Amino acid sequence: MLKELEAYGLLAYNRSFKEMTTIKVGGAIKYYFEPNNMYGLTKAIEIIESKQLAYKIIGNGSNLLCSNKDFDGVVIKLNNLNHFEVNDNIMYVEAGVPIIVAANYAINNGLSGLEFATGIPALMGGIIYMNASAYNEAISDVIESVLVYQAGSLKWIDKADLYFGYRESSFQTNKDWLIMAVNLKLEHADSETLKALAIDRNQRRFRTQPFEYPNCGSVFRNLSDKPVWKIIDEANLRGLQIGQAQISEKHSNFICNLGQASADDVNALIEKTISLAKENDNIDLFLEVERFNW
Ligand SMILES: Cc1cc2nc3c(=O)[nH]c(=O)nc-3n(C[C@H](O)[C@H](O)[C@H](O)COP(=O)(O)OP(=O)(O)OC[C@H]3O[C@@H](n4cnc5c(N)ncnc54)[C@H](O)[C@@H]3O)c2cc1C
Repeated sequence: MLKELEAYGLLAYNRSFKEMTTIKVGGAIKYYFEPNNMYGLTKAIEIIESKQLAYKIIGNGSNLLCSNKDFDGVVIKLNNLNHFEVNDNIMYVEAGVPIIVAANYAINNGLSGLEFATGIPALMGGIIYMNASAYNEAISDVIESVLVYQAGSLKWIDKADLYFGYRESSFQTNKDWLIMAVNLKLEHADSETLKALAIDRNQRRFRTQPFEYPNCGSVFRNLSDKPVWKIIDEANLRGLQIGQAQISEKHSNFICNLGQASADDVNALIEKTISLAKENDNIDLFLEVERFNW
C-alpha cells in the first residue's frame, strides 16, 4: 500500500516499538520509514496523508512508552537528517543528529551551551520537542531558530515566535509541525574546561541513574517543591516490581525493564504511583514520559 515511499527512503514492515524505544516495550509497527532527506520526508508526508494513514515521528524513543497494541500507521525516523556544521558560534544541527554527538563536537571545538546534554540518549528533534534540560540549562536557552515542515512547506521560525517551558514546547501543541533542523547560538569557551564539566556530570549520571536497565528517563515531571523521587519514596514504592518492570532501586523516578517487561507492567507501576501520591500527599503527578498508542 505504501510502496511509493520506497522512492524516498527506506521502507520496512512489521518492526516493533520494542526495538525503537529505550525502555524496550510496546507492540508491532505496521510501516516503518526512514526518509533519505528533507525532500523525502515532505513527499512521504504527502503520500501518507493522501492515504489517511496515521504517522508518528520518532527520535531515539527515549521518552516514549508505547502500548502493547499494534500501530497501524507509519513510524518515521529522521536518522538520515544527520548533518551538522559550525559557523563561528552558530551551530546548524539536523533533527536526526544524536544530541550526544552534537554536544561533544561543540565541546571539542570550544563552544559552550550543550554541556548539559552529553548524557541524554536522544536525537536533536526529540530534544527540541521536549525542551530537554538538566543542571538548570535547557536546549531553549541556546535555540536561535528552528526549521519546521508544516502544511506542505519548510520554514525557519525564530525562537521569539515559539513557546518553550519546563519540558514543554510549541511542538507539543502543534502536532503537525515537524522539526527538521535548528540553529543554536553557542558561546566560545575553553574546551578543556567544558570537557571536565561534561565528564563530571556524566559520572554523576552513571552513579545516580539506572543505566544498567532499559528505561525511559524520568517518568514524572518535577512540578512541586518536593522532588518526585521523594514523593515515591515516602509512598514506599522504591523497588516495587510488577511483572518484569520495577521502580528503580537507584532512582525512584525511573522505571526499569528487568528483561521481559510489557508496556502494561510499566503502566501498572505508573498508575499505582499516581494513585498513591494522590492518596498520601494529595499531589497530582504529571507524566514526563509520553504514552503513545494507548
Ligand atoms: C537514561 C535517560 C536519561 C535522560 N535524561 C534526560 C535529561 O537529563 N533531561 C531531559 O530533559 N530528558 C532526559 N531524558 C528523556 C528523553 O531523553 C528526552 O525527553 C528527549 O528529549 C527525547 O528525545 P528522543 O529523541 O528520544 O525523542 P522520542 O522519545 O523519540 O520522541 C519524543 C517526542 O518527540 C517527538 N519528536 C521527535 N522528533 C521529532 C521531530 N523531528 N519533529 C517533531 N516531533 C518530534 C515524538 O513524536 C515524541 O512525541 C532521559 C532519558 C533517558 C532514557
